[in-house]
Amino acid sequence: MELRAVRGMRDILPPESWDWQWLESRFREIAERYGFAEARTPLLEATPLFVREIGAGTDVVDKEMYSFERHRDQLTVRPEGTAGAARAYVQNAVSGREPVTRWYYVGPMFRAERPAKGRYRQFHQAGCEIYGDEGPLCDAELIALCVDVITALGLDDCRIHLNSLGSGDTRARYRDALTAYFEPRRAELSEVSQRRVHDNPLRILDSKSEADQKVAADAPSVLGLLDDEDRAHFERLQGHLDDLEIPYVVDPTLVRGLDYYTRTLFELKTTTDTLGAQSTLIGGGRYDRMVQSLGHKSPVPAIGFAMGLERLLTLATPPATAPRLACYVAPLRPEAHGVALRVVTRLRRAGHHCELDGRGGSLKAMLRRANGMGGRLCLLIGEDELATGSVTIKDLARHEQQTVTLDDGFVARVQARLDDDDDGSGASGAETAG
Ligand code: AMP
Repeated sequence: MELRAVRGMRDILPPESWDWQWLESRFREIAERYGFAEARTPLLEATPLFVREIGAGTDVVDKEMYSFERHRDQLTVRPEGTAGAARAYVQNAVSGREPVTRWYYVGPMFRAERPAKGRYRQFHQAGCEIYGDEGPLCDAELIALCVDVITALGLDDCRIHLNSLGSGDTRARYRDALTAYFEPRRAELSEVSQRRVHDNPLRILDSKSEADQKVAADAPSVLGLLDDEDRAHFERLQGHLDDLEIPYVVDPTLVRGLDYYTRTLFELKTTTDTLGAQSTLIGGGRYDRMVQSLGHKSPVPAIGFAMGLERLLTLATPPATAPRLACYVAPLRPEAHGVALRVVTRLRRAGHHCELDGRGGSLKAMLRRANGMGGRLCLLIGEDELATGSVTIKDLARHEQQTVTLDDGFVARVQARLDDDDDGSGASGAETAG
């Protein structure tokens, strides 16, 4: 039997992994600028954490979790990052140490969804969570952070969708209103949505089925059910986004698939059709009830978002970020291997990216390999160099060569060569150092 990666899970190998590092470091840089610090929580959590917080009746909990029992513990490989982060926040009594906490995370998530373009079973998210601030100023900051990431990746074709689910019993009242609206039109709905009329009517609003969308078009809006405080919160958030000149659309059909949200909900969607139905790049919202429901003595307001890294990378054009090979060290005979190993180690310890070619071969072959790997310098050690304690440096950009002694100043001379400009025009003037 041929062993292959699990369906819906893929290997990220070089050179693609350079793109991932680029994306993740853009995200980290921006998140840290906004005052977020990294939280690393376990990939495995107790199953009830997700069942309780994400909610029975959601697709994630009902159909998509990788859950198993081990030593009588019910465990789940995390399908998302928010519940685990909130669990860590409560367990570690973080609220006692600081009034407001800003955490970010980057890592794999697991959902047994039907694989499609932009939808995997192991996928990666980068996300941020703020605890202890009820907004809406920080809600606006969080959306601004998302915009900054999207802009840093060069993805301009995005639209921000905004909604509020209210607090208190708004959600429950909205569910009832939707059930009352859909019940008489049940026959017009898709089979899946028919089943949701009572269990989870909010999900009918973001159904992809055309029939459902037609019925949902006239469904009551949650915004009509908001109380004064929730409405003021939502309006102030919109005012802050206007202050930042961030465009958005208020989208009362935006409900999102997880149960824990209260008040602010937002999504960034690409307006290109590259990802088809998987157009949501970032999803987030407020979850003011979760921390207390996890056992914290008092309510702690919270808001967060998660961005799907696979989807962002499908749309972004990462720059070539593989580090440039500085020195290709080529011993021309086996007796030179020891010297070559010492040379390459000295250069690496001085911070240079080096390759050592122990495969042997002719001078021509070595130079071809060095050029093939994009090397800047090729350091040759043959019979003459061995006899005189030296190395011949071939400058592959300038087509020059020079023999230098392997003395204390050797690394500095290589450095001077590398400091010289790559195209051989001599503009940096460092050549004299050789
Ligand atoms: P969610 O945690 O469902 O709110 O999703 C947040 C973001 O994660 C989405 O907008 C997607 O970009 C990404 N995402 C969610 N599920 C998947 C998946 N199965 N495959 C790839 N990306 C996903």
